[in-house]
Amino acid sequence: MIEVEHLTKVFGSGTESSNRVLDDVNFTVDGGEIFAVVGPSGAGKSTLAQCLNLLQRPTSGKVIVNGDDLADLSAAALRTARRRIGTVFQSSNLLARRTAAENVALPLEYLGATKQSTKTRVHELLDRVGLGDKADHYPHQLSGGQRQRVGIARALALKPAVLLSDEATSGLDPQATDSFLRLLTEVRDELGLAVVFITHEMETIVKVADKVGRIDQGRIVEQGALVDLVLDPDSPLGKSLRPRGA
Ligand code: ADP
Ligand code: MG
Repeated sequence: MIEVEHLTKVFGSGTESSNRVLDDVNFTVDGGEIFAVVGPSGAGKSTLAQCLNLLQRPTSGKVIVNGDDLADLSAAALRTARRRIGTVFQSSNLLARRTAAENVALPLEYLGATKQSTKTRVHELLDRVGLGDKADHYPHQLSGGQRQRVGIARALALKPAVLLSDEATSGLDPQATDSFLRLLTEVRDELGLAVVFITHEMETIVKVADKVGRIDQGRIVEQGALVDLVLDPDSPLGKSLRPRGA
């Protein structure tokens, strides 16, 4: 579903190694899988998210979604391919002057969907994330967790194949985080999405990840199935994931 091959991103002139924000990143995420990318602040996670939907152009390497190398596509084809990728951000980026329903409707409006079909789809989506009764609420009238679920509804509006989540649970309380993660796994199962779940919070990945990649200074320094890493006594990631004393 999504394949990343030798992805490198260098900002600026590229002569200084400190500008190398992503360095030879490789991974694959199949439909129905959640790949968690975990690493400290400044490791390159958000740059990776932006390269995955080509908001940033990779310096080299490939991002292949459903068999299409995004870098090879014409501008029109890229717009179509981008629709296959839904994104949920930290603090959800909802428009403050639009209701929950109007925020979810945005991508459908851009696409030129009819009023009626938009309305039907928006209600379906808000129902799906458990906020059918909050359609007319503005973002400031919703809790942080509710705003993130509206963010998921908006990301799903165009029926993507890939869902990117960049620090979407950072800043949520434990209960709202659990509810977000539960929703994420449910839609993954229902829609067969390939999910890239990016976070600096080690404790969240145990709850959702099928596979994990640990990123540090732009490199994926270890990756594998979550169970394998947890069981591997030599894995630094596994060590930090195991319950204390185990
Ligand atoms: P993370 O999301 O893991 O905290 P980021 O991808 O936001 O990391 O940032 C990784 C590094 O890339 C940081 O050192 C940051 O300053 C740098 N960086 C991010 N975006 C740009 C940009 N547009 N131009 C130059 N440097 C950038
Ligand atoms: Mg970030």
